[in-house]
Amino acid sequence: MTAQIIDGNALSKTLRADVAARAAALTARGQQPGLAVILVGDNPASEVYVRNKVKACQDNGLHSVFDRFPATLTESELLTRLDDLNNDPNVHGILVQLPLPKHIDSHKVIEAIAPAKDVDGFNVENAGALMTGKPLFRPCTPYGVMKMFEAHNIALEGANAVVIGRSNIVGKPMAMLLLEAGATVTITHSKTRDLAALTRNADVVVAATGRRNILIADMVKPGATVIDVGMNRDDNGKLCGDVDFAGVKEVAGFITPVPGGVGPMTITMLLVNTIEAAERAMQQDRD
Ligand code: NDP
Repeated sequence: MTAQIIDGNALSKTLRADVAARAAALTARGQQPGLAVILVGDNPASEVYVRNKVKACQDNGLHSVFDRFPATLTESELLTRLDDLNNDPNVHGILVQLPLPKHIDSHKVIEAIAPAKDVDGFNVENAGALMTGKPLFRPCTPYGVMKMFEAHNIALEGANAVVIGRSNIVGKPMAMLLLEAGATVTITHSKTRDLAALTRNADVVVAATGRRNILIADMVKPGATVIDVGMNRDDNGKLCGDVDFAGVKEVAGFITPVPGGVGPMTITMLLVNTIEAAERAMQQDRD
């Protein structure tokens, strides 16, 4: 069997067309949706992510504010800037690119973003809302993965799902969304004793570890859906995921490639969340 490829670029294109239409409608009503992106320091990977996010805004009719600060920025200067953005009616979403320099407390910074503008969905109020089944914003990467399941009619109700990785930004919210969709979810991590025994019984596996080849063909149940969130470099410096794509695609039913899988979906869902924030703000102004 050769798995069907879940094409994140193609799905993103469709979803971004909808984003662009909603952005145009909001702009026509006098409220162009706006995203503020903050980058502190000069981490090269972060620079690429931020540039892609700002470009995606421009390409789809959203207004973007890009704040680029040197690594010497103090925590209190950053908090002051966030306060300004929280109070700016033309900014509907705020994103602080992680990681931040060591002298800045990321937790404090994330908590300083107004929950209604926390389009990454990382602050405690939004994490709690997701946990209790009433999410305001779904974190972008897991939200994008859910859209991939939906687009390919992959049944989640009653499915055994294994999430590899337990970070606050991918693993945990991914598990919550799968649970919300009716899957029986197992969250695994670096202390998990026999990962293969768990994945071999899974209808759906989401790998989010940043470790190459964490999932290989003999760990996968025939016909399973395999989602690869990881972003790594292979021996030749080429971008690759956590999954041994060449081997696993011969066993799985569906698989996402890297690049061209989850990556583009993450940015697309950031745009979707910003549009939702802007639509909510407009609704509130009317109420
Ligand atoms: P973190 O480093 O925060 O978390 C990695 C997780 O993987 C941890 O929970 C860790 O377990 C677990 N892990 C590590 N080694 C193993 C192992 N041998 N077996 C099982 N679990 C293991 O990473 P993130 O969640 O932030 O990101 C994960 C990957 O996804 C990275 O490659 C990142 O670049 C990528 N990513 C991609 C995005 C996209 O848009 N495509 C968006 C966000 C991230 P423990 O908790 O025990 O240490």
